[in-house]
Amino acid sequence: MKAPYIKVKPPGPVAKTIVEKDQSYTAPAYGRVYPLVVQEGRGMVVEDVDGNLFLDFMAGIAVASTGHSHPKVVKAIQEQARKFLHICGSDFYYEPMAVLCEKLAQLAPGSRQKKVFLTNSGTEAIEAAFKLARYATKRKHAIAFHGAFHGRTMGSLSLTASRASHRAQFSPLVPGVHHVPYGIEGLGALEKLFRYEVMPEEVAAIFVEPIQGEGGYIVPPPEYLPMLQDLCRRHGILLIADEIQSGFGRTGKMFACEHWGVEPDILCVAKGIASGMPLGAMIARDEISTWTRGTHGSTFGGNPVACAAALATIQVIEDGLVENAEQVGGYLREKLAELQSAHSVIKEVRGLGLMIGVEFAKPDAKRTLDQKLRDQVMQTCFEQGLLLLNCGESTLRFCPPLIVNREQVEAAVAIFDAAIKAVERQ
Ligand code: PLP
Repeated sequence: MKAPYIKVKPPGPVAKTIVEKDQSYTAPAYGRVYPLVVQEGRGMVVEDVDGNLFLDFMAGIAVASTGHSHPKVVKAIQEQARKFLHICGSDFYYEPMAVLCEKLAQLAPGSRQKKVFLTNSGTEAIEAAFKLARYATKRKHAIAFHGAFHGRTMGSLSLTASRASHRAQFSPLVPGVHHVPYGIEGLGALEKLFRYEVMPEEVAAIFVEPIQGEGGYIVPPPEYLPMLQDLCRRHGILLIADEIQSGFGRTGKMFACEHWGVEPDILCVAKGIASGMPLGAMIARDEISTWTRGTHGSTFGGNPVACAAALATIQVIEDGLVENAEQVGGYLREKLAELQSAHSVIKEVRGLGLMIGVEFAKPDAKRTLDQKLRDQVMQTCFEQGLLLLNCGESTLRFCPPLIVNREQVEAAVAIFDAAIKAVERQ
């Protein structure tokens, strides 16, 4: 399959019928970004139901890490599915779960022993971390950051602050959660929080995305995370890194924390871990993992098929995809930076590895963020066969499968360039 190939302007006739049916029966809460209706996916290419071929630079929100339906991952899923689909890892044992937990404990930054709790999603990994943090420290408060996205269930939503609309009408949320600005200026706000509102000795954990994802692909200055780690250690607060989006090679290291030598007390992962099978994990240092039998569990979490997919995914990632993310990601950033000098509407190109954001602003003196233009560029790219995704206020993210090559980067950047020109002409 060679993409892009646009046979009929999307959404084509078949896609339109499916979208119509979908809209009649699915919850209106879903926030579909454009009418892509998928038939098949192979590697970097997604085919829609009308035979259009798209180059995928969003990987189903940074999930299809090894590309769509990687043969080794599919084989692992098929083999496990033939053996058994479910037995419940909270109550019984199976090898793929034990082997995966061992692997995750070894992969997580830091040499100390770890224990792993498996979930079905990112939000559940955060819920598990929140519960364990309170349980282990016997402290009630938690801190997160403006712009943070940690999920949408009640506990994780209480930590999320990337858009007020995510929280609107769902209050009261979990009490004891405080938000401060992300980045160096937030450290001063933290000191003030400790002085005026809550004693640091009452804070169980600080939740942080090493690179903010939904908040706009924000990379903090290099000294930020080490400073946050120091502050946590000084006060006995657990540092919980949410690497649900940035983990598993995406940033050119297995985990983004490694760029700054930070070793979180708890690491939350999901998305890219199993190439698209639903799986998440909460990896905690042994000393913290004090919760006793029955204090937490999940019927489906750590499902054997998902575990098999994760083991195959990790193997593929370890066989060169981290390096590829670093190298091809660097090339993509370079190419996008070149576009920045040609288009005044590009305010910033930022990111690490294959986690790159392009922020749009009006070319006025104030550089007002331009969400409308961003959305038009995303829609035009879709119509031309390139899949991108929005994040933050006016950013488009490039988070392709980690198998992407230079030629595909060049094709994507050419479509992106043409789309910006087309939208600017309108
Ligand atoms: N944390 C981060 C950093 C995320 O990017 C996401 C999802 O986008 C989540 C948590 C929630 O994950 P899930 O949608 O699997 O519940």
